[in-house]
Amino acid sequence: MKGTIQIPSGSDLYTGIRQVYGPESTVVGEVNSDGVFVRRYRVPSRTIIYKSGPFFPGGKGGIGSYPPGSPQAQTLALLHELAHNIAREGGGSG
Ligand SMILES: [Zn+2]
Repeated sequence: MKGTIQIPSGSDLYTGIRQVYGPESTVVGEVNSDGVFVRRYRVPSRTIIYKSGPFFPGGKGGIGSYPPGSPQAQTLALLHELAHNIAREGGGSG
């Protein structure tokens, strides 16, 4: 399902968040006068936030020296995931 956010339990992934880029993922950006994308951003088809991961208080792990669920850990997790949405040449993330 496009643009859905799921919150399952389990997982000790690094940021506690997983984004999925399927074929239905949206790519948006700016096009120059030659019709070539100069900035591209991907919109994930699905985002998963793990209840037991470092994004939530009481979750496993932390982010850097910040405990799970702290505002600092949540901010870093979101910034990390947003960086994955910056597309680079060839379609990968930046
Ligand atoms: Zn990552």
